[in-house]
Amino acid sequence: MISLKKYLDSDKSELPRVIHQDPREVLPAAIKAYRSALVEMGSCSTDACPALGNDLKRELGRLEIGLASVMNCEQVETTQKNVQEQLQDWGRRTAAHYRQTTGEVKDLLLVMARTAEAVGERDQRCAGQLSNVTTRLERIASLEDLAEIRVSIEQSATELKCSLDRMAAEGKAAVEQLRAEVSLYQAKLEIAEETASRDSLTGLRNRVWMEAQIERRLARNGPLTLAIVDIDKFKAVNDEHGHLVGDELLRMFAGELQSASRSTDLIGRWGGDEFILALECRLEEARTQIDRLSAWACGSYKVGGSVVPIEIDVEASIGLAERAPEESMASMLTRADAEMYRQKNASRNGRKRLRT
Ligand code: GH3
Ligand code: MG
Repeated sequence: MISLKKYLDSDKSELPRVIHQDPREVLPAAIKAYRSALVEMGSCSTDACPALGNDLKRELGRLEIGLASVMNCEQVETTQKNVQEQLQDWGRRTAAHYRQTTGEVKDLLLVMARTAEAVGERDQRCAGQLSNVTTRLERIASLEDLAEIRVSIEQSATELKCSLDRMAAEGKAAVEQLRAEVSLYQAKLEIAEETASRDSLTGLRNRVWMEAQIERRLARNGPLTLAIVDIDKFKAVNDEHGHLVGDELLRMFAGELQSASRSTDLIGRWGGDEFILALECRLEEARTQIDRLSAWACGSYKVGGSVVPIEIDVEASIGLAERAPEESMASMLTRADAEMYRQKNASRNGRKRLRT
């Protein structure tokens, strides 16, 4: 400790030999040096502990100014005691401050350790990596040296970041895989839906699909005409040539109906030898289209892949129903069916087939 009092009380003969000058000149120089030392100590204290350094700097500054007007040894002694007290008090407070700061860092580390552990629990695959970080963090919590703590924290933070980046990358890969699987299942579902919507014998749309589509078209409230097509005397084909030939004829007839349909016409197999068409147009236009389609699909078919194909003449009865305002699908189907039977009966009675 710098003690001016000691200097002033000392036997001047014991003073260093360099001082051959008048002690009256030495004292102001010593006080000047002491004052300068106090200012320097104040500055250094703010560097050593920014949080508490300013207090000491202010107090030492006050004492330094006091020394400017010092008149006697008592004043110097009082100043020196004050400086001692200020330094001791600052030392105590600074130590306490750093103890508290270290404690806070330790608490923070323990929270980080617990968080890393919790994340580790959630992701078993990364648990190994994270528990290493956890162990390191717990070890840091028992360290006393702040510099050592800082280095360890930086290392742990880097490791933790690497682990989290890896987890994110793995998560991304998992999401990608999931997305690919979902697309695959979507594609499978679409194929399954497509298969489920088809009639297995003819490949046309089936009744369930047609009903749903007709309902959708009815909901749009646009023009709609339904047509029911029933092959005449089809039982006879089965009876005469067998079911396989009958099947083949159904397939061929369905193919012809399909090829004569427009892209906006929906066509499906209603069941047995019955087919249905949903045309997005008024009755008059529908009649023209159905006449064209009937002329195309009815007539002579060569059935059977055997050496001598069987020639079968196909006729069909067709009933049309244009949608009346607010009419339901069931009502339209009943009307179309009734018209189809009317036409069938007319042809049975030998009358000329009405081209609908
Ligand atoms: P109509 O002139 O009154 O229409 O009489 P039809 O002989 O055509 O007989 P109908 O339309 O009343 O019945 C259809 C027949 O078609 C009944 C059944 O023997 C036959 N059938 C139904 N489904 C199939 C099938 O998938 N394959 C074959 N080969 N025959 C079928
Ligand atoms: Mg029939």
